[in-house]
Amino acid sequence: MAIDIFGRRIHYLRISLTDHCNLRCIYCMPEDVSFRPTAELMQDDEIIRLVNLFVRLGFDKFRLTGGEPTVRAGIVELVRAIHQIPGVRALSMTTNGVLFSRLAEPLARAGLQRVNFSLDTLEPTRFRQLTRRGSIGDVWDGIQAAEAAGLLPIKVNTVVARGYSDDEIVDMARLTLEHPWQVRFIELMPFAGATEFQRSQVVSAEEMVARIEGALGSLESINGGQLDGEARVFRLAGSKGTIGFINTITQPFCATCTRARLTADGRLRLCLLCEDEVDLLTPLRSGATDGELRQMIVDGIWRKPWGNRLREGQIPLNRIMSEIGG
Ligand code: SAM
Repeated sequence: MAIDIFGRRIHYLRISLTDHCNLRCIYCMPEDVSFRPTAELMQDDEIIRLVNLFVRLGFDKFRLTGGEPTVRAGIVELVRAIHQIPGVRALSMTTNGVLFSRLAEPLARAGLQRVNFSLDTLEPTRFRQLTRRGSIGDVWDGIQAAEAAGLLPIKVNTVVARGYSDDEIVDMARLTLEHPWQVRFIELMPFAGATEFQRSQVVSAEEMVARIEGALGSLESINGGQLDGEARVFRLAGSKGTIGFINTITQPFCATCTRARLTADGRLRLCLLCEDEVDLLTPLRSGATDGELRQMIVDGIWRKPWGNRLREGQIPLNRIMSEIGG
């Protein structure tokens, strides 16, 4: 079992399958971003070997992310291989949805169980402005294909940035009246690369709640305000879906954290918002045994930081979000 020094049992691994992305969201990466050569990224057999090791340490929940996981060559076969590893209980993906309309069905057949879509705006022109490319129609097609393929419940993650999409908070929340989705509002987080923008554009969850309630009526809390994963979940009267808030900045959920991350270049990232990492890929490529890699994971998890140090002014600068895997 993998336990940290604070007694948290860590059993959820988010794997960045690639740092490459087919969008360039303005708060996520600079426009002229350069991606890593494929040889520096974990290869399929390396990912499978590492997942096996994590499973043997009690990890049972896996999320594939990026970068954009759907741009990885052979994604369907990789999902199938991970799904077939005994002990992988939950397998999900986070995607921008652009390529999902043709991948939903094969991915579901390969063993993918659920999918989170990232969508920050409902306006086509703004979508292109925020993502610097891409078409919102493709994302809608992707969401519909995921529903048809039974990848349920659909979650839609919306990062709110002041001056760009904050005037759409109510429209995004309104989606839950018609659709059985969970629309989740995410506070903008500061990372390297686009830091100044991120700092100046944060909209707190408190402000989002006030705006939604002002327009659509009160939000009834589900789970008595307890966290569902990382989200606090609410419902509008008569809605088919639910609304979640992921308040990483204003109400961090470090006490209930069960997760670690594997970056696309094979580093065990101990906390999204801290720079602490353990290089697993270099020793793996230099011939480390399973036992040695296992010990590196156990030791790394043991020293997982309690949480972010943003209040002390420590912003993680060593990587941008797309490399870590959001
Ligand atoms: N490409 C996939 C996608 O779009 O869902 C997966 C990777 S993307 C980095 C994962 C999530 O991180 C997206 O929902 C994105 O909006 C979010 N994200 C990126 N930069 C962020 C930031 N600075 N603060 C908060 N969320 C961010």
